[in-house]
Amino acid sequence: MFEIMHHGAVDGVTGSCHELRLASGDSVLVDCGLFQGAESLDRETGNEDFNRKQIDFSLDGVRALVVTHCHIDHVGRIPFLLAAGFDGPIYATEATAHLLPLVIEDAIKVGISRDERLIRSVLAKLRSLLVAVPYKQWFAVAGVAGLRGKFQCAGHILGSAYVEFDVALAKPSQRVVFSGDLGAPYSPLLPAPKAPYRADTLVIESTYGDRVHESRRQRRAQLQRVIEACFENGGSVLIPAFSIGRTQELLYELEEIIHRVERDLARKAGRGVGLPAQSQAWPALTEGGSDFVGGGHAPDRVSNNVWEHLDIIVDSPLAAEFTASYRALKHLWDAEARRKVKAGRHPLAFDQVLTINSHAEHLQTVEYLRKTGRPAIVIAASGMCAGGRIQNYLKALLPDERTDVLFVGYQARGTPGRDIQTYGPRFSQGRSPGYVVLDGERVDIKAGVYTLGGYSAHADQKDLLNFVKRMRHKPKHIRIVHGDDAAKRELQRLYRELLPETEVVIG
Ligand SMILES: [Zn+2]
Ligand SMILES: [Zn+2]
Repeated sequence: MFEIMHHGAVDGVTGSCHELRLASGDSVLVDCGLFQGAESLDRETGNEDFNRKQIDFSLDGVRALVVTHCHIDHVGRIPFLLAAGFDGPIYATEATAHLLPLVIEDAIKVGISRDERLIRSVLAKLRSLLVAVPYKQWFAVAGVAGLRGKFQCAGHILGSAYVEFDVALAKPSQRVVFSGDLGAPYSPLLPAPKAPYRADTLVIESTYGDRVHESRRQRRAQLQRVIEACFENGGSVLIPAFSIGRTQELLYELEEIIHRVERDLARKAGRGVGLPAQSQAWPALTEGGSDFVGGGHAPDRVSNNVWEHLDIIVDSPLAAEFTASYRALKHLWDAEARRKVKAGRHPLAFDQVLTINSHAEHLQTVEYLRKTGRPAIVIAASGMCAGGRIQNYLKALLPDERTDVLFVGYQARGTPGRDIQTYGPRFSQGRSPGYVVLDGERVDIKAGVYTLGGYSAHADQKDLLNFVKRMRHKPKHIRIVHGDDAAKRELQRLYRELLPETEVVIG
C-alpha cells in the first residue's frame, strides 16, 4: 500500500525529512531539514559530522518534495538534495515559496560556501523547481501516480502548513497527514491551526508533548515583567531568536506592550488615548557615543518610562527581510493583527525598532553596548546560539552582570543555548560562574538567564491532543516524531489513552 520512512527528526527535533513511498515504488519527501546541535555531531567524536548534512538515503523513486515551512531544520538540506541529483517539483505554500530562496541563500552562506556563482546556480535551480500552491487546494504530485496533496494552515510561522495526502491506489483510499510543525492556537499574528477532517495515518511532531504553555496574556505579562526587571540593573536584554517566525512574534508582542504602557500613561495623565510613540534617535555608533548613561534605573522609572525610550535592535538583515515579507503578506495574518493595522498601528514596524544591516554596524553596536551598558533589547539569530550574530553579543556581554539573556524558544541538546540555560544560573546562585564555549572560545556567564517557556511557536501537549481529538475521522496509525524522548513517550501514552484502538508508535 505505502510505507513511511524517516530520514531525520526521529531521535530529536531537527533534520526533519520523511518519505512517503507508495507500492509502485514512487515516493515523495516531506521536508529536507538540517540537523542542528548535538544531532549534527558525530556520536563518538563529538565533532561536526559533515555526513549528517548529506543525503544519506537513496533517491531512487523519489519524485517530489513537499515543504511544510521554511525553518532551517525543515529545509536546510535542500542544497544537498539538489547536489545529489534531485530534479523533481518542490511544492510549497505561496508564502513559503516566497521565503524559501532567502532561507536557502542564508543557509548556503552560513554553512556551505560564500561563492556567489554557486549560490546563484543553486537558487536558480531551486526557483525552477518550486511550485507554489494555495492553502486548501488539492494538487496532483507529479510523477507519483495516484497521489494528491493539500496544504492546511499550521499557524507556526508565515506560510507554514500541515500536509494531507490522499493515496488513491490504496483500497480503500488512505489519507496520510504530516503535521510539520504545529503552532500554538493563541500565538500572536497567525491564525490557529484547525484539526484535519480525517486522517488514517498521522505523522505528528511532539516538541512540547510533555508540557503545557501558559496563556497568551500570562506570557505577555511575563515578558513585560522580565524585561522590566532586566532593565533595573541596566544593560542589554539579549533574545536569541530564529530570523523567521519568532522575531516577528516578539516584535508584535513588544508593540502591544508599548501600546498598552502608553495608553495607560496617557489615561493617567488625563490626556486621552493614543499618544504618538516617542522615538529617540540612536546615538552615533561611534567611540564617542557614550553620552547615554546605562544602568541604575529606579524601579518606578522603569515601569513608567523605559518602554517609550527603549531601543529594540533587530540585528539581522535576514530577519529584516522576513519582517518585510510578513508585512507584505498581511492577508495571512489573523483577525486581531489586521484590526491593529486598520486602527493605524504598525505591529511589526514601530518607532523603537532599529534594524542593523551591515557587519560593520553590527560590530559597532556590540562594542557600544559592551561599553555603555545602555538598556536595549537585542533580537538576533540564531535561535539556539549555534551561530549568527547573537554569538558576538554573547561573547561581549555574557561576562557582564548587567546583561540578561532571555530564551523564548526551544533549545536543542548540545547547542550553546542549552548550555547557557544549564550553566548560566550558577553565578546568580552565588557560585563561580558557569561558562559556555562559543566559536571555540570559553566565555564566562555572569549575565542573568531567563527562559520564558510559554513563548513558543509550537503547539503544547493540550494542542497536540486536540489536533487528534477534533478530527471527525480519527487515525488508525499515529507516528510520533520531532521531539525529545520524554516528550514522545508522554504523548504516546496520552494518544493510547485517547484512542485505545489506534496503533501509536514512536518514529
Ligand atoms: Zn519550525
Ligand atoms: Zn521543526
